[in-house]
Amino acid sequence: MSAISVTGLRKSYGDHVVLDGLDLTVPRGTVFSLLGANGAGKTTTVRILSTLINADAGEARIDGHDLTREADAVRAAIGVTGQFSAVDSLLTGEENLLLMADLHHLARRDGKRRAAELLEQFDLVDAARKPASTYSGGMRRRLDLAMTLVGSPRVIFLDEPTTGLDPRSRRTMWQIVRDLVAGGVTIFLTTQYLEEADELADRIAVLDNGKLVAEGTADELKRRIPGGHIRLRFADPGGLDSAMGLLGDATRDGDALALRVPSDGSLRSLKTLIDRLDDRAVEVEELSVHTTDLDDVFLALTGNAKNEKVAIR
Ligand code: ATP
Repeated sequence: MSAISVTGLRKSYGDHVVLDGLDLTVPRGTVFSLLGANGAGKTTTVRILSTLINADAGEARIDGHDLTREADAVRAAIGVTGQFSAVDSLLTGEENLLLMADLHHLARRDGKRRAAELLEQFDLVDAARKPASTYSGGMRRRLDLAMTLVGSPRVIFLDEPTTGLDPRSRRTMWQIVRDLVAGGVTIFLTTQYLEEADELADRIAVLDNGKLVAEGTADELKRRIPGGHIRLRFADPGGLDSAMGLLGDATRDGDALALRVPSDGSLRSLKTLIDRLDDRAVEVEELSVHTTDLDDVFLALTGNAKNEKVAIR
């Protein structure tokens, strides 16, 4: 049984179609990442799947429960941490957790035990008795996620969990997510950091114009998009011109003294290129290899590059 399965989900605001028949399946104990430009409908999807708003049409099951007919069971199975933190700044970290325990009707002693476990797990023991207003951004996010876990959810919606965090705090969050998944939890992740989806997600879907325009593992998506190239920079225009004559399919890179040569980034293609330049004694000042990344995938599949998209699909 899947943790999340969605068919034909639709949502409009007036004439504005936000979701135009969304289908997706997320296996248990995996991370699924939904990507899309600002306003693509990611938060709307999370709000529908977490029972906060109704869809206009479509069906969804979360942890085996029907989203509309068994909304209470869905709510009991999920946790949501949104872009806006649920942390109360005036309370301490521990008090925030105990408040969540009360909301989940845990017995006093169980609530205290759960709060202590989570403070330990999220490295907040030293800060437990301090007001959350004194916490750093990373500590707040960890507390926010810890609060979501008080109810032991089986499916967690993480809406942009690391926006605004420094690289170290972001990596800490990633490790927490990996540990949760190793424990069998399913994560539905939206993020504006494609590197984050690349690091964490088992499967990635790209939302554009209300529809999923691509879905697969990060590697599958990257393979669909040509974008890999070798960039060569020359010391003088003479070198650039000789190389340009030699490498027919190269294009000038913004900076007039550089070329982009399409390449899959393999050692073999690199060697062939260097041998060709060496044969003609063309001096290269600098060489860098650019393999397709999720940024290329995102740019090719979303936004206004309609013609490009048709070509790729
Ligand atoms: P972001 O990355 O900026 O958070 P998103 O992909 O999460 O974007 P949504 O917040 O789901 O996008 O919004 C999708 C579209 O629906 C936007 O154009 C937004 O203006 C519109 N929208 C969302 N909620 C409402 C509402 N309550 N009434 C009218 N329009 C809405």
